[in-house]
Amino acid sequence: MRHFGQVGRVPGDPILGLLDAYRADPNPAKLDLGVGVYKDAEGITPIPQAVKLAEQRLIATELTKSYIGGHGDPLFGEQLLRLVLGEHSPALSEGRAGCTQTPGGTGALRLAGDFIARCLPGRSLWLSDPTWPIHETLFAAARLPVRHYPYVGADNRLDVAGLLATLVEIPPGDVVLLHACCHNPTGFDLSHDDWRQVLEVVRARELLPLFDFAYQGFGDGLEEDAWAVRLFVEALPEVLITSSCSKNFGLYRERTGALIAITADASSLQDVRSQLAALARNLWSTPPSHGAAVVATILADEQLRQLWQQEVAAKRQRIAGLRNGLLEALQPYGLAERFAHIGAQRGMFSYTGLTAAQVRRLRSEDAVYLVESGRANVAGLDAERLDDLARAIARVVS
Ligand code: PMP
Repeated sequence: MRHFGQVGRVPGDPILGLLDAYRADPNPAKLDLGVGVYKDAEGITPIPQAVKLAEQRLIATELTKSYIGGHGDPLFGEQLLRLVLGEHSPALSEGRAGCTQTPGGTGALRLAGDFIARCLPGRSLWLSDPTWPIHETLFAAARLPVRHYPYVGADNRLDVAGLLATLVEIPPGDVVLLHACCHNPTGFDLSHDDWRQVLEVVRARELLPLFDFAYQGFGDGLEEDAWAVRLFVEALPEVLITSSCSKNFGLYRERTGALIAITADASSLQDVRSQLAALARNLWSTPPSHGAAVVATILADEQLRQLWQQEVAAKRQRIAGLRNGLLEALQPYGLAERFAHIGAQRGMFSYTGLTAAQVRRLRSEDAVYLVESGRANVAGLDAERLDDLARAIARVVS
C-alpha cells in the first residue's frame, strides 16, 4: 500500500512564489517589493547591533539549555509587558496583565485562536477586510468561525464608517482582531479619534478586542505606536494582545513573540494563564529561548536599550524617507496627489492602489516585484532609483 498516494498538492505561499520569480530574474535592476521583511539601503535585512551585543553577552554567561517554563522567560515577560503597556500601566500594578512567550507573533495568534475556541466557545472572530492572509488560514485552522469588517474599500481608502457600521451589528461577546499599528497589508491606520469611536462600540457591544501588534516602533515611535493598545487596556477590563519581536528586534528566524492577556482581576489572570500554558503544551510544549533572552537582555540594560531604540528609529526614518522620496519622484509626472496616501500610510507596507494588471506590467517590463493586490514593501525601495520607479509607475498608470 502507498500511504501517501492520495495526498494532494496545495499551492505554495503566493508571496514566496513571487520571491522565487524575483531570484530567477536576470535583470540587474530588479527590485523586490514583495516579501515583508525590513531591508536597509544595501537591500539587507540586518541583525541590529544591540542584538549582536546581547548575543555575545549571552554566549559568555548562559549556563544551561534546559527547558524554560511554559510561559517562557520571566524577565522577557516582565520587560515586554512594560514595552507594550507602558511603564506605569495600572493593569501591571494591579496584577491583571500576564505574558506568555510564544514562537513569534504567529505562535501568539495561534495560541489566542486555540484559547478562544476552547474557553470562549461559540464566539466568532472578526478580521479586517483585507488583512494579513495568514490571519485567515490560522484562525480557520484553530476552528474559529471567521467573519470580516470593512477596512479599505475598492477605492483604496480607509472605510471608517463601514468599519463602525459593521461593529455595531456584531453579536455581543464576539472577538475583534485589530491591527495595533502599521496595518498589514494596507498601511492605513486609524486616527486617534477613529480609535476612540471603535473603543466606544467595542465597549457598548461587549466585544473582546484582540490586538495584533507586530510592528511596534515602525509607525510613529515605540511609545506612539502603543497608543491604541494602551487606550483599550486602560478603558476595558479584558484585552488580548499578540506581540512580535520579529521586525523591531530583527529576530525573525528566532521566533520571538508573546500573547499578553489583560483580565478583570488577578485571580482571573491565573485562570486564563493556566489555560494558555495547557494549550501551549500541546502546540510547542515550551517556547524557544534564544530570541527572548536577547530581548530581555536588551530591554533590561540601559545602554543596549538606547542603542536598540536608535536602531528602530533609523529603520522608521528610512521608511518615512522612502515614502516621501517616492512621492517627490512622482511629482514631475503629476502623480503626487493621486499617490498621496503612500505618504500618509504607516509601517512597511503600502496599498499603492496599483491594479493587478499594472503590477504584472511592472514585473514584466521593469522587473519590479510587488504583490498583485498592489501591496508594496516600502522598505524594499532603492533611494537611489526612485526616479526610475516613478517613471515606470507613470507608464503603467497612463
Ligand atoms: N501579524 C502581522 C500583521 C504580521 O505582518 C506578521 C509578520 N509578517 C505577524 C503577525 C507575525 O510575525 P512573526 O510570527 O514572524 O513574529
